Amino acid sequence: TNPLIWWVRRDLRLRDNPLLVQAVVSGRAVVPVFILDAETEALGAAAKWRLGLSVAAFARDLEAIGSRLVLRRGPALEVLRGLVAEVGAGAVHWARLYDPASVARDTAVKAALRSEGLEAVSHAGHLLFEPWTVATGQGGFYKVYTPFWRSVKDRDVAGPSAAPRALLGPQAWPASDDLADWRMGAAMNRGAGVVAVHACVGEAAAQARLAAFLDGPVGGYKERRDFPAEAATSRLSENLTYGEIGPRDVWHGGMRALQDGRAGAEHFLKELVWREFAYHLLHHTPHITTQNWRPEWDNFAWRGDGADAERWRRGMTGEPFVDAAMREMYVTGTMHNRARMIVASYLTKHLLTDWRVGLRWFEECLIDWDPAANAMGWQWAAGSGPDAALYFRVFNPETQVEKFDPKAVYRHRFIAELANVPGRDARAFFDAVPRAWGLDAGAPYPRRMVDLAVGRKRALEAYAQRNSGI
Ligand code: FAD
Repeated sequence: TNPLIWWVRRDLRLRDNPLLVQAVVSGRAVVPVFILDAETEALGAAAKWRLGLSVAAFARDLEAIGSRLVLRRGPALEVLRGLVAEVGAGAVHWARLYDPASVARDTAVKAALRSEGLEAVSHAGHLLFEPWTVATGQGGFYKVYTPFWRSVKDRDVAGPSAAPRALLGPQAWPASDDLADWRMGAAMNRGAGVVAVHACVGEAAAQARLAAFLDGPVGGYKERRDFPAEAATSRLSENLTYGEIGPRDVWHGGMRALQDGRAGAEHFLKELVWREFAYHLLHHTPHITTQNWRPEWDNFAWRGDGADAERWRRGMTGEPFVDAAMREMYVTGTMHNRARMIVASYLTKHLLTDWRVGLRWFEECLIDWDPAANAMGWQWAAGSGPDAALYFRVFNPETQVEKFDPKAVYRHRFIAELANVPGRDARAFFDAVPRAWGLDAGAPYPRRMVDLAVGRKRALEAYAQRNSGI
């Protein structure tokens, strides 16, 4: 039988990979290829950099089982056709993605390969539940989370498959690009070394991270998950987004913890299902990534990008919770969930700025960037999304900080100006920012750019006007 090409995308793992199970069973030689195409080139700087690390780690994992990762650059269809000819392949398989750009590309690739007589097959693997397999009683899709959760929580989720111990290769390996020439690390316009300290790369590291979480924090997850200074959450978003770990492994881990009587585990499973819900929405309403999910928001007078948004991006608003969070993202490549909600509320409500301005900055800075979760999160915060925060729900960063960072540990960790002895991450921020920002680590902490009460009132007035306009 002729070889099978495995088009590797966001499934950089050997365990819990349905495609791989089929490929191994087929007895064919497998040629894994990663393609740097226009869609991959277009990733935000942090995500692209982080993906480069993941690709390198995965290439090593494949080598350990007698395989390789072939690297090629160019339009996916062209590259795949070339490779098919080179190795005499009869099939191309890949794990599905769900964002509009990937769907458009993959649909075209599938049609073209099939018309050329090849087997072209897409597999599940990125999600627990394919978005079209969850439907309301009326056959529609869910727009609200809780009924979505209820409809999936008792489903049987297949156990994760084991990693193959060996993977059959072709007679002769096709040539591969050198990852270093792709300069994916160069995508970072700031000190990649800063973020690197925090990154947790590759399948083994992701598995260890899950195990450590299940060993400890999962039990207290429900109570502690909202405190940004604590290591109370799994941090698996970074690994899930590149597929270094599969969602079924995480699901079954959570289930085991629940069965062991660790109460926090159910809440953890619920959060994992938020990811599924985000993909459900993305699949059924792909405009969620670019347009107000609710069209009645189209006539809302959002403020565009400008000086205020720039201060927000730079972590210089004078609002400590907001600035700590923005700086956290800049130096670590991630941001605590509670903090994401607060900075998003602050930008869209206190600063009345278009949520897409924030969405884009997150896309640029997050190493766990995910097209579905990011879009859903921003539309939720802005109030323009399906299961959204009500428009009059304006987070007050001051009361939030009293509740969730009472001892100022989080603020001091990331804001050098507020700490007596600034720690590594607080100092790193000033080392990492571009000189053009003109930030001075020795300058006093900025004054508040908006009075919270004034900002809140302004937001509520604008929102009330919108409501009367429809
Ligand atoms: P845990 O608390 O350990 O949760 C386990 C897993 O559940 C996460 O790894 C994640 O896959 C999933 N999950 C948890 N909360 C959510 C949620 N609200 N929505 C979707 N999935 C969730 N998450 C991303 O992965 N990428 C993004 O680009 C992203 N952008 C966001 C933007 C905004 C404005 C907001 C409010 C949220 C965003 N989130 C995003 C969701 C959430 O903040 C992160 O998934 C979470 O902070 C990741 O930390 P963790 O892995 O420790 O999560």
